[in-house]
Amino acid sequence: MSTQPERPIVSVRGISKRFGQTTAVDAVDLEIRENEFFALLGPSGCGKTTLLRMIAGLEAPSSGELVIDGQDMVRTPPNARPVNMVFQSYAVFPHMTVEQNVGYGLRVTGTPADETRRRVAEALEQVRLDHLATRKPDQLSGGQRQRVALARALVKRPRVMLLDEPLSALDAKLREQMQLELTSLQRAVGITFIMVTHDQDEALSMADRIAVMNNGRVAQLASPVDLYEHPADTFVAGFIGRINLLPSRVVRRSLDGLVILVEGLGELTLAGDNADAEGTQFAIRPEKVVIDPPVDEAGWVRAGATVVDTAYYGDTSQIFVTLSDGGRPLSVAIGNARRGREGRPQTGQSLTIGWRLADALLLAEG
Ligand code: ATP
Repeated sequence: MSTQPERPIVSVRGISKRFGQTTAVDAVDLEIRENEFFALLGPSGCGKTTLLRMIAGLEAPSSGELVIDGQDMVRTPPNARPVNMVFQSYAVFPHMTVEQNVGYGLRVTGTPADETRRRVAEALEQVRLDHLATRKPDQLSGGQRQRVALARALVKRPRVMLLDEPLSALDAKLREQMQLELTSLQRAVGITFIMVTHDQDEALSMADRIAVMNNGRVAQLASPVDLYEHPADTFVAGFIGRINLLPSRVVRRSLDGLVILVEGLGELTLAGDNADAEGTQFAIRPEKVVIDPPVDEAGWVRAGATVVDTAYYGDTSQIFVTLSDGGRPLSVAIGNARRGREGRPQTGQSLTIGWRLADALLLAEG
């Protein structure tokens, strides 16, 4: 992953897109850096594909400015932009071999034959398909066809690669493998990748930075770790992973911090970052909740609860509980490090749960 701040390669400034009554993208500002793997993430209909298509030039903005590599793009046609798009369906020509498919874009623009050959060979090597150059697409696996589509975009040497749900047509195992391949490819070729996805795990594991979109706007732009650990609001917190929310209100500010009253837990004093937070939801991730928290340690929240259900996922389990005071639901994630039922609570069981106050967040509703 890029560690140094790089200069912006794509600047989206106040861009909106309206389709009749629908505002698909609403005054979005984004700076995407050179050499970063950037993800646009959000639920269906949030405007991420429309934003990507505007960067590609396949859709004209209703208003706003787009600058790529220092040049105004709004009046630049798609084929004159230093970008290349890989589509979800990764359409490849069925009658052409792998190398003919990859070289197609160079041949139609009149690139000399020997240069085409050299660049095709280089692109095939980058996606590790050099040994399959003479195959036809129907002799390839889904993952290999996807790599042909990538090579076909790479061979044009774009400054920015645009990827629209590039892995969604692949099955789960292959998708995981291609996630690793795509990130190492991005690092090897050293160009900016902008990927649209609705899959939060995919965005978290692949991207240097993620813009989470909601209703045409950017709800938060941050690194995967910051998004997960410091979500801007309840929308981001719930979209990236799971979160428990308990309604709360501020009682007073004291010298020790912010005193809040939380449903089911009573009065708590938030210190550190949380002392400046404004919000109405006291939030804790399920994996930060423990069963039988330490009794005498300061800085812990403790509460009685009853198990109402459990879900087993192999490596982890979710334990669904209700708080003894008021019955609010909460989920607890536990690792299944031990075989068998040992240590795994059963439905109906009463227990004490708890978490470090410093691991909780006070979130605004989003
Ligand atoms: P998905 O993951 O389902 O593709 P998305 O986040 O990519 O969703 P967009 O495809 O950008 O969302 O669509 C954003 C909004 O704009 C939606 O309400 C959609 O119905 C609308 N929209 C997109 N394209 C058009 C169009 N050509 N004409 C009219 N409305 C459109």
